[in-house]
Amino acid sequence: MKPSDPLSLPESLLLRLQDSKHVLVLTGAGMSAESGIATFRDAQTGLWARFRPEELATPQAFAAHPARVWSWYEERRHTVREAEPHAGHVALVEMEKMVPRLSIVTQNVDALHQRSGSGSVIELHGNIMRSICHLTSRPIDEEWLENSPDCPPRSPWARDGLARPDVVWFGESLPAEAMNSAMNAAVNCDFCFSIGTTSLVQPAASLPLLAVENGAILIEINPQETPLSLHANHCLRTSASEALTALLHQWKTRVQDHKPGAG
Ligand code: NAD
Repeated sequence: MKPSDPLSLPESLLLRLQDSKHVLVLTGAGMSAESGIATFRDAQTGLWARFRPEELATPQAFAAHPARVWSWYEERRHTVREAEPHAGHVALVEMEKMVPRLSIVTQNVDALHQRSGSGSVIELHGNIMRSICHLTSRPIDEEWLENSPDCPPRSPWARDGLARPDVVWFGESLPAEAMNSAMNAAVNCDFCFSIGTTSLVQPAASLPLLAVENGAILIEINPQETPLSLHANHCLRTSASEALTALLHQWKTRVQDHKPGAG
């Protein structure tokens, strides 16, 4: 791995990015941090500091303490509603226009990529704003939830059913269709970014490695080193918004400077 410059890609890698047919972007909780949505590590404050996420985001926790788990998600939903995409999300929307194909695979449940205008987003861990019946998995609409006096609301689909968030809890399987699409993108991409993820939670963590095994260039964007860093061609050791805006600027400048007739 080359020594890291926090704000720019070496020219040879920029050239590879510019010539890419399919770019894969894998995002984790760090991608949303600058929108004010805490990563789990940073979220252990205030009312919820005495619980670890692993004690709230599990089917077992919901079975034992449904009201506590639902209330935690109510608070997280409130934060997500208030949040806005940041400059890094917007830069990804711009980058999508600069290559034939750009796929975003996200572990985030906040839909900030979609809200910023990214077109191809695969949600590996679901979406916190949607709810389903905990027995039948059938979707439950917002109006039903708003009119329910219960915490959590009862499900309209099963007598003993309760509403639960449509997210993947620890110990649950990922949605098969989303995982297949993500693996397909990893195998077929020629350039891959891993942004704001500790690269510890499987199976998402294996996607960039799959991309590398199939010949892709790998760039990591994360202020911290992770187990993936060793496998990356280059690491941008700064925040997602700073790295992505700088990269977009560098890329656009290169395109401009190398236009036929320029200089
Ligand atoms: P994680 O394992 O994805 O770790 C967060 C990573 O982001 C760390 O490596 C950290 O160094 C990095 N980071 C922090 N700030 C950053 C920034 N500004 N720019 C770039 N990188 C930054 O996240 P986790 O908190 O352990 O969460 C595990 C899982 O929990 C997630 O994959 C997700 O499913 C869920 N989760 C989702 C959200 C969300 O939807 N926004 C928030 C918290 C947790």
